[in-house]
Amino acid sequence: MIPRQISGPEAYMDKVDCVVIGAGVIGLAIARRLAQHGREVIVLEAAEGIGTITSSRNSEVIHAGIYYRAGSLMAQMCVSGKRALYQYCRDHGIPHRNCGKLIVATTPAETEKLQSIRAHAEANGVDDMQLLTGEAARALEPALNCDAALLSPSTGIIDSHAYMLALRGDAEEAGAAYAFYTPLLRARANAGRIEIETGGDAPMVLECNLLVNAAGLGAPSVARSIEGMPIELIPPAYLAKGNYFSCSARAPFSRLIYPVPEPGGLGVHLTLDMAGQARFGPDVEWVESIDYAVDPARADRFYPAIRRYWPTLPDGALMPSYSGIRPKIVPPAVATQDFLIQGPRAHGVTGLINLFGIESPGLTSSLAIADHVGELAEQ
Ligand SMILES: Cc1cc2nc3c(=O)[nH]c(=O)nc-3n(C[C@H](O)[C@H](O)[C@H](O)COP(=O)(O)OP(=O)(O)OC[C@H]3O[C@@H](n4cnc5c(N)ncnc54)[C@H](O)[C@@H]3O)c2cc1C
Repeated sequence: MIPRQISGPEAYMDKVDCVVIGAGVIGLAIARRLAQHGREVIVLEAAEGIGTITSSRNSEVIHAGIYYRAGSLMAQMCVSGKRALYQYCRDHGIPHRNCGKLIVATTPAETEKLQSIRAHAEANGVDDMQLLTGEAARALEPALNCDAALLSPSTGIIDSHAYMLALRGDAEEAGAAYAFYTPLLRARANAGRIEIETGGDAPMVLECNLLVNAAGLGAPSVARSIEGMPIELIPPAYLAKGNYFSCSARAPFSRLIYPVPEPGGLGVHLTLDMAGQARFGPDVEWVESIDYAVDPARADRFYPAIRRYWPTLPDGALMPSYSGIRPKIVPPAVATQDFLIQGPRAHGVTGLINLFGIESPGLTSSLAIADHVGELAEQ
């Protein structure tokens, strides 16, 4: 039951300065930024707690910023976000490890590509990449098969849940409030303010000065439910699932191992969690609806890909693990997308900021994205 109608008299509405939709890592970082700058903030989250959707279904890698298109928001925010994130981890005691990563070439043709990958990374401000011979790479990782490799020293891993808990705590300390099981149903821009109607067990009608749509996979649908938001500026939503396999054998690597990227993805790579456990993936599977089950048959493609750089991967070692879904705003035929962050100057709706397509490196970029949104909110 909805106790107060959004079309009802303004006097009956609860008023709040800022509403953030979504308590994933992006909404949490934005809520923290706004609250620490003196704004009154409430975070509305459809699920039961923080970070239960894409923010808990990723690789937990602090990316260096190597591959993104030069000048893109992804390139800029990954590099600045990475620095801010390492600093935040150090300041707040968040478990993380600056373990580095190797991009491994296993053929002469791939070895040739390493130079251009390094040049591209440099153009993005990642100026610490080191080109290694196969021998030098094997001195670091003896189990590796490779002709040559690129070392990315600034890549790392993070306990993303500890990070999100810390963001939540910071925001709460600065006065932010959270409402779980509270989906935004619809909203309406009205004379410079935005009226919001929520569902859930305790439906609310709220009026705010600033509405930040950080709903992840749900962001295009949330934008469509805002009366006054120009429909032609809302991107389409596509879903690109990434499946992971865990490994029953101990993977003898202390760095992340990536193949030279292939068209459409980064290839089957090895990442490590904070306990040192290896996982492989994510691959890319375009899907029509959200289903996180991992098809065990996909392992057939993982084995040969992994054995190119780790030839001794034992038969039967891979086990279906988990999956995440990338919030794509471009179809499969388009190779890359960028973050799309729209403030009032982009769409003309006072007090509305939309974040679309926040896929990887969203976790790495979260503090930089939050600063950007904070600046848009001050315009
Ligand atoms: C397979 C995969 C691997 C990745 N690996 C990495 C990596 O290693 N490093 C990295 O930097 N990035 C990585 N990413 C990207 C990163 O995970 C995302 O960019 C980040 O988690 C996005 O956070 P978010 O807050 O935007 O979305 P989410 O975490 O999905 O949060 C959105 C929230 O909005 C809520 N919501 C939706 N609709 C509504 C509504 N109507 N009302 C209220 N609440 C609503 C949802 O319940 C959800 O909690 C990866 C992503 C994927 C899919």
